[in-house]
Amino acid sequence: MKLDGRVSVITGAGSGIGAATAILFASGGARVALVDLDDKGLQEVRREIGAGRASVLEFKEDVSDSGAAERTIQAVVREWGIVEVLVTSAAISTGGTVTTITEKDWDRVFAVNTKGTFLWARAVLPHMIRAGRGSIITLASQLALAAGRGSAPYVASKGAVISLTRSIALDYAQYGVRANVIIPGAIETPMLERSFVRKADPEAARECSRQRHPLGRFGTPQEVAYAALYLASDDSSFTTGAQFVVDGG
Ligand code: NAD
Repeated sequence: MKLDGRVSVITGAGSGIGAATAILFASGGARVALVDLDDKGLQEVRREIGAGRASVLEFKEDVSDSGAAERTIQAVVREWGIVEVLVTSAAISTGGTVTTITEKDWDRVFAVNTKGTFLWARAVLPHMIRAGRGSIITLASQLALAAGRGSAPYVASKGAVISLTRSIALDYAQYGVRANVIIPGAIETPMLERSFVRKADPEAARECSRQRHPLGRFGTPQEVAYAALYLASDDSSFTTGAQFVVDGG
């Protein structure tokens, strides 16, 4: 199996892309540590992976809390001795433009999406450096490249995730650690649905978003998870600092 025994920490594992990634990694033989604020989501993913499997750990934590990142990674290392893969999928999207977003909401989006990527990378890196290998996989968004109306804090936070990932790739390549960012288009998850419901005409917004994709449809969480599987596995051993676009064209 591609990820035989590989110790993987996945944030945002309780829903959408993070959940699909956790399930795919576990089916590929990985040991998975699931992190999310949503306890119910974590339980559902654990059930789907298979109750009673010794290779799953769950952590109900807020990714924007630096204590949580350190605590969780220490617990994973105590249990399994190493961290080989980190996937940072936890994120929020509030909508808003520069003139409508409140400062508090701006700060929260950056705390979860951008700081929540930095903190978890910081917590795993010493262990990856010690092991002389590791793969950090972050999640940005096609909106960070093309922009999108009414979502300024989210778009900006994801632009920062791209830059941060490429910085990590450069700074830690010498230790055998790779860092790559997945850039999805619109993917059928609760986050996407919430972004339409926020609009005055959700159906028109859904159709407009669909038309941005030359393949004529939204992606599935599994289609993004396959990109993460590739980046986590040794098949991608010469790939670092890459912007891995999965956006239906
Ligand atoms: P989702 O809302 O289905 O899942 C996100 C998960 O993150 C949820 O389980 C949520 O509880 C968790 N989460 C949110 N804040 C958290 C916090 N502070 N601490 C811990 N967990 C927290 O979203 P998704 O669509 O699966 O998105 C996954 C990733 O993909 C995100 O980074 C998102 O920005 C990115 N992305 C999604 C799309 C899309 O169309 N769905 C497109 C591009 C990028």
